[in-house]
Amino acid sequence: MCSDRIAQLAGIDLAKAGYLLHYCKGQYFSLNPEKGHLVHRLVYPVPEQSGVGIHITLSADGSVRLGPDTKYVDKIEYTVNENDKGDFYRAAHRYLPSIEPDDLLPDFAGVRPKLQGRGEGFRDYIIRDETDKGLPGLINLIGVESPGLTASPAIAKYVAGLTAEALN
Ligand SMILES: Cc1cc2nc3c(=O)[nH]c(=O)nc-3n(C[C@H](O)[C@H](O)[C@H](O)COP(=O)(O)OP(=O)(O)OC[C@H]3O[C@@H](n4cnc5c(N)ncnc54)[C@H](O)[C@@H]3O)c2cc1C
Repeated sequence: MCSDRIAQLAGIDLAKAGYLLHYCKGQYFSLNPEKGHLVHRLVYPVPEQSGVGIHITLSADGSVRLGPDTKYVDKIEYTVNENDKGDFYRAAHRYLPSIEPDDLLPDFAGVRPKLQGRGEGFRDYIIRDETDKGLPGLINLIGVESPGLTASPAIAKYVAGLTAEALN
């Protein structure tokens, strides 16, 4: 269940509050391990409108991944479409010119919870105490997409602060 549905269960009108989530899938392809020696650090291209762009990540096991792309979807599912390999190849070829399309293998996918729909401007995620909506004690966290994982310690501290204030 997504965080907007949790807010709805508490009686919040999602459209009115601007809390409705849109699903945006991100796929990853892995790089042929034989070409792994070409990359030793993260490589980020200039960001695109709805994501940071297909970039290079290094896994703890030393493998190299390309991704994620951005595709708005109506349903949550995690298949990686091999037909999208061309887009990954074109993106990566700009900064890894010696790779071939066959060096890319479908890896995994995730789904981002975005507050902005297709073609809409960027919206930051929501962290909000809902006391003024008549819901004391409810703190909504909605649309926590990237860099939500990196920011999670800071988010936790902030929410702990909101909780402490609510209890006073
Ligand atoms: C493709 C992709 C790439 C990303 N890259 C980055 C990155 O590079 N850096 C970064 O910082 N962040 C990244 N993120 C974002 C990061 O993954 C999220 O911001 C983070 O996971 C949000 O954490 P969360 O705890 O709010 O939600 P989640 O991680 O989604 O956790 C919610 C949990 O609740 C569980 N749950 C749902 N419904 C129920 C229920 N009814 N009962 C019990 N449990 C339930 C789910 O199973 C899940 O385990 C990326 C996300 C995607 C999709």
